[in-house]
Amino acid sequence: MATLIDRLNVPLQDGARADDSHASNARGGAPLPNNYAPHSSKPAKSGWSRTQITALMETPFMDIILRAQSVHRDNFAPNQIQMSQLLSIKTGGCAEDCGYCNQSAHFDTGLKPSKLMDIEPVLEAARKAKAGGASRFCMGAAWRSPKDRDMDALCDMTQQVKNMGLETCMTLGMLSSEQAKRLANSGLDYYNHNIDTAPEDYGRIISTRTFEDRLNTLGRVRASGMKVCCGGIVGMGEQAEDRIGLLQVLANLDPAPESVPINALVPVAGTPLGESEPIHPIEFARLIAVARILMPQSYVRLSAGREHMSDEAQALCFMAGANSIFVGETLLTTDNPSQNEDHALFARLAITPEAAPD
Ligand code: SF4
Repeated sequence: MATLIDRLNVPLQDGARADDSHASNARGGAPLPNNYAPHSSKPAKSGWSRTQITALMETPFMDIILRAQSVHRDNFAPNQIQMSQLLSIKTGGCAEDCGYCNQSAHFDTGLKPSKLMDIEPVLEAARKAKAGGASRFCMGAAWRSPKDRDMDALCDMTQQVKNMGLETCMTLGMLSSEQAKRLANSGLDYYNHNIDTAPEDYGRIISTRTFEDRLNTLGRVRASGMKVCCGGIVGMGEQAEDRIGLLQVLANLDPAPESVPINALVPVAGTPLGESEPIHPIEFARLIAVARILMPQSYVRLSAGREHMSDEAQALCFMAGANSIFVGETLLTTDNPSQNEDHALFARLAITPEAAPD
């Protein structure tokens, strides 16, 4: 008998199985347990064309959400969300000119730059993050690339945060192969390096490095054995085809990034993109759904911009397959929902935080 998914207009691709028993809960039945361990053992498909992604982006909203939720249940526990906490370990004064960023030294936003934090306050923040339920601790520094003289301190931080039983992630700008290897050897699980937007839109946003520079660092991170955290930003005045181009590059990284942060721009006065129109929540949820379908085994994270999303919009994004959030009251330098708000939303939705892997 044809399932509901079978009757949708857009054909299923690899990585999305309409007939899987795990998916049946998407269409009714008792809630799945929180220790539910799905798993599609199928490798995720890559080689997505723009035509295929455009077809997904143009699919009627209810159909794409249903399909994304089904793909999600094939690959993840449906009522668990991974929680990461982000700390700015070196703020502002960055040599890059990313048009959305108040940490760039090119723009006057009133942000006071600071030097690399000492290790003890970083560890204290990591302890608090763990106590608050975070399973991953992300440390971000506003650099074009780290200096070799900082590597000992960065590796030490990584090791000690890892020893607390947290997953570790850093975002430090471009890396050499040697730096990537050192971080990997010190226990860094993930390296974040976003591609931000489509290759053809990149020059509008950043002039101090190229899209290829970005891909080169991602290649070095992958070669070092670390997992890749890579996503983009929407609401920067991009065209619909730029969103498609962004998703196409992410989905066709081989393998796809394990973590895919999707940011909704928080416009900051004084930056070139400070007056950008926000993305509509329905369009944002659609983007999440398409990301989930294209990258079925990746954690898709609601990142910057969550502060401005209603509970309903966040719930819709979780339905669309988002399964990771940043927690903590600030995200580098912009606001984020408070822990109480997040706990209340999780309780309302019967969502539990995902534990860090052993
Ligand atoms: S986004 Fe990162 S690299 Fe770009 S200006 Fe901000 S801190 Fe620097």
